[in-house]
Amino acid sequence: MYVDVILPVPLADSYTYFAPPEMEAQISVGALVTVEFGQSRRLSGIVGYIRQAPPQSLNKIKPILAVETAQPVVRQPQIPFWEWISQYYLCKLGEVYNAAIPSGLRADSPISYTARKETFIRLSGAYANNNLNDAFQKITRSAKQEQLLLAFMQYSRAAKGEIAKKELLAKSQATSSILNSLIEKRILETFDKEISRLQVYGEEVETLNKLNDYQQTAYNEILDRFSGKDVCLLHGVTSSGKTEIYTHLIAKTLDMNRQVLFLLPEIALTAQITTRLKKFYGDRLGVYHSKINENERIEIWNNLLTDTVLSVILGVRSSIFLPFRDLGLIIVDEEHEPSYKQQDPAPRYHARNAAIVLARMHGAKVVLGSATPSIESFHNARTGKYGYVQLNKRFEETELPLIMPVDVKELRRKKQMKTLFSPLLIEKMQTALTNGEQVLLFHNRRGFSPTLVCKICDWTPKCTYCDVSLSYHKYANHLTCHYCGRVYKLPQHCPECENAALKPWGFGTEKIEDEIRTLFPSVAVARMDSDTTRNKKSSEEIISHFEAGETQILIGTQMIAKGLDFAKVSLAGIINADSLMNFPDFRAYERAYQLMAQVAGRTGRRKTHGEVVLQTSHPDHPLIQLALNHDYEGMYAMQSEERQLFRYPPFSRLINIDLKHKKDDVLREASAYFCAILREKLGDRVMGPDKPAVGRVQNLFIRRILLKIEAKASVRTLREILEKAQNRTAQVAEFKYITMAFDVDPE
Ligand SMILES: [Zn+2]
Ligand SMILES: [Zn+2]
Repeated sequence: MYVDVILPVPLADSYTYFAPPEMEAQISVGALVTVEFGQSRRLSGIVGYIRQAPPQSLNKIKPILAVETAQPVVRQPQIPFWEWISQYYLCKLGEVYNAAIPSGLRADSPISYTARKETFIRLSGAYANNNLNDAFQKITRSAKQEQLLLAFMQYSRAAKGEIAKKELLAKSQATSSILNSLIEKRILETFDKEISRLQVYGEEVETLNKLNDYQQTAYNEILDRFSGKDVCLLHGVTSSGKTEIYTHLIAKTLDMNRQVLFLLPEIALTAQITTRLKKFYGDRLGVYHSKINENERIEIWNNLLTDTVLSVILGVRSSIFLPFRDLGLIIVDEEHEPSYKQQDPAPRYHARNAAIVLARMHGAKVVLGSATPSIESFHNARTGKYGYVQLNKRFEETELPLIMPVDVKELRRKKQMKTLFSPLLIEKMQTALTNGEQVLLFHNRRGFSPTLVCKICDWTPKCTYCDVSLSYHKYANHLTCHYCGRVYKLPQHCPECENAALKPWGFGTEKIEDEIRTLFPSVAVARMDSDTTRNKKSSEEIISHFEAGETQILIGTQMIAKGLDFAKVSLAGIINADSLMNFPDFRAYERAYQLMAQVAGRTGRRKTHGEVVLQTSHPDHPLIQLALNHDYEGMYAMQSEERQLFRYPPFSRLINIDLKHKKDDVLREASAYFCAILREKLGDRVMGPDKPAVGRVQNLFIRRILLKIEAKASVRTLREILEKAQNRTAQVAEFKYITMAFDVDPE
């Protein structure tokens, strides 16, 4: 028997091995096996395909060394789904396997699964048939032992005569020495039992909240769209109750004994929604993201594999890889969020787009939810590819927030910008705080300031390994590289001119916090950005303190703009809207609009009318005007025209190819060579090679090639062209160590 094994290496898609006769019975598609790879590496691979006929050349085929799991660790259609990802996103099957399977399932992993065990109590053998008269006879002289035995009988009845030792002691309020006496008398005995790490929801599940009229209409419309389309875009203004609608769609799917995947873009958002969904689905709801530990991850995986309890998974992008039995519905909430795209390493997949393909494989429906849909999804709805449902009334019919632009250029000219905050923003903050309301301050840059600069000669400190200025973090009192994470000491003086006066240039969230604390010394302030949320707990704490009103002002980056629901926020400040628009990226305006709308949407969610102070040097800019008028369709029209003209998505498909090497001259030649080969077939669809904005990261120089391919072009043909060009380049001796990374549909 010959089998093709998918291995966690970025070389070929799979490798053929030989199964010795004694193993044949145990081998099935999806089973994990140990094989030798190269000279002496042992790897865990997954059986992808069992060959009917032996491969053409039989020499050098090695045997499988061991079968790790006779039962498959994946379900249909997972392997075809991996194949689609590797084809479309231009990576190897092994890279998808590596990302998809929890590493703890594999024998070659240093962290393998350990079951959680707990000590349990049961009746010992002689009394197991409930012949307890003898037992009570033995302890007539000890009232406490008698009480404990009665308590044991009472609490263990519901659980097949077993109870955790901890639980028994807590409930009976007995001491362990009393328990030990019963064990010594061989009435009770202890044993170890594997227990689940998945949280048990101890309470009764509740019935769903009734939908209001608008929500009910939208719900019915979604079901109606589903009769003709597989994907429906739910375009609902912030605070319109999209989650309520989701809960009803989930319940309907569960009633059909099918499963649900609920995708969120950020871990930070899971806590709030978990609490809301647990009430309705109890233990059937599982939560899956990168910050749960490996053992928990494996328990969720196995629970789905054996179809034990879980039937709704709430998770971030990697949950598309879980072994679902039968998905009936996938919800992609905040579908426009760029964090659905995996950046590094490969597979660089887009979870929203991959989820749509996964749904098709399961025969499931997809709801894409957003207040500010991506241009791509809105385009698909406009052209009839997706169904479309709009929800433009807010919950409790609060009005959309009032956005007030402030011309900071003008204020600076009049010397009225003494801090980072305009007089209007300060006044509005004072009013909100006096009224016991809360304030959000948004800025898209973390750290104290983007960099330090020499007042005399304009020198700025740069990372030794990346071509990028270092960010200044005042509290930690150091400089960091936001690309490679390296930390540098503060220079005492400028190395160019010996001047000692280095001053911060520009500002980040840390500086905003600094100034707010000076301005409002008695107000509780918190900051939420990737510096303050290194672990999952810290972001949950920041959010729950703010929810509880223990902090009044929350300062943050993108993180605070996304989907969070705060009841008492009446004011938001966008400290510098221009910095959102000035990105050298075709999506800059779309993103800037989305962020402004999302920040605004966090205000006025319960009855109070929300206000937003938007600081900009260009109050007349068309995009700012569109944001003030909540004119999403206007933004779409403007962007769609531009993108059609310059061949950007959704009218073309983009592929970034980054070539890297430690020597710049070798890289320059190799990129030109590779590009020339591509142009033979692809002509003017090839742009570059160019130096990207950051031309060196981690001591490797980078050249970028951009492909603009017709949206309907064949994925397979393109892949062949790219592979051939890559192989021809690699055959040139001096280009051998050039690395190439393909990023399809970059965000
Ligand atoms: Zn200097
Ligand atoms: Zn660096």
